[in-house]
Amino acid sequence: MESSKVTIATLGSHSALQILKGAKDEGFKTALVCLKSRLKLYSRFKKLTDEIVLVESFSEIMSQEVQEKLSNLNAILIPHGSLVEYVSLEQIENNFKIPIFGNKYILRWESDRNLKEKLLREAGVRTPKVYSSVDEVDSTVIVKLPGAKGGKGYFLATNPKEIREKLRILNIREEDIFVQEYILGTTAYVHFFYSPLSDELEIISMDRRYETNVDGLGKIPAKLQLQSNPDLSYLVVGNIPIVLRESLLEEIFEIGEGLVRASKELVPPGFIGPFCIEGAYNGEGKFYVFEFSARIVAGTNLYVNGSPYTWLLYDEPMSMGKRIAREIKRAMEERRVKELIT
Ligand code: AMP
Repeated sequence: MESSKVTIATLGSHSALQILKGAKDEGFKTALVCLKSRLKLYSRFKKLTDEIVLVESFSEIMSQEVQEKLSNLNAILIPHGSLVEYVSLEQIENNFKIPIFGNKYILRWESDRNLKEKLLREAGVRTPKVYSSVDEVDSTVIVKLPGAKGGKGYFLATNPKEIREKLRILNIREEDIFVQEYILGTTAYVHFFYSPLSDELEIISMDRRYETNVDGLGKIPAKLQLQSNPDLSYLVVGNIPIVLRESLLEEIFEIGEGLVRASKELVPPGFIGPFCIEGAYNGEGKFYVFEFSARIVAGTNLYVNGSPYTWLLYDEPMSMGKRIAREIKRAMEERRVKELIT
């Protein structure tokens, strides 16, 4: 089948522009499920979109009307962070009529902290210590709140008393928090692409996040930091590029391969296409993985025109969005699309 007969669809948010651009570059038709409130924004990039499906809220993607519209367009939906955030996992797993690129069942594993830990352990990667009880806290920890959007409201503490005081102020129950060893070091978020068609793992790109207001804190002197004692927030506002020392790459590939292996065992068919690890190098240069995402992450938006890593593999600009479209195109040529969708 030709790529022009298939529509690549996504929700208008997160990494949509790059996904649409990549799909267009590979000859697909594109559709955007767009909030009425964001129509003005996406109209500024109208050449990227063939069809706009207007909705009041993203949860409307589950309505029969929207599903039928997308189905008539022969659409494959590319999931990203906003799908996971605004549509329930039950709906995604059970009620989606149109094919989703990737393994939709693994999205649950990135949302549920216990499942996430299980997959990381199975992959054999180094992770920060997790404290099952606040009473055990004896070093600097990061306290992650339930349902925190993009790290908003996470806080640091060094002992049980501090944690309990803070929880009392925030009116949050102790059993709802996730307490993890804080890795003091340099963060690096690696964007992988696993191709089930060629059984190959690629590093597409890497980023660091700019998180307000923790990233602003270092710009004021220690005395003022102590005086103002601000409520920290890890809310992401943007992304910054990074490349790793070449000698660190092999370990990163091994971590990615461990995750691919573990995902195949625990959530078959495992990762399909993009996934990301979030971690930090501590003072000794040891890398600790504290999160993974099982789909495209917004840090890839830095590289719409390709990254240093894709430039080594492709003699053309290659973004994550385009890499996804390229995989679908190849699968269509080889009649293997079923291997890429769930
Ligand atoms: P997350 O919601 O897990 O992606 O975390 C949001 C941000 O909190 C990350 O981008 C890091 O800056 C920081 N963070 C999360 N977990 C840790 C950790 N264990 N050690 C150090 N920083 C962390």
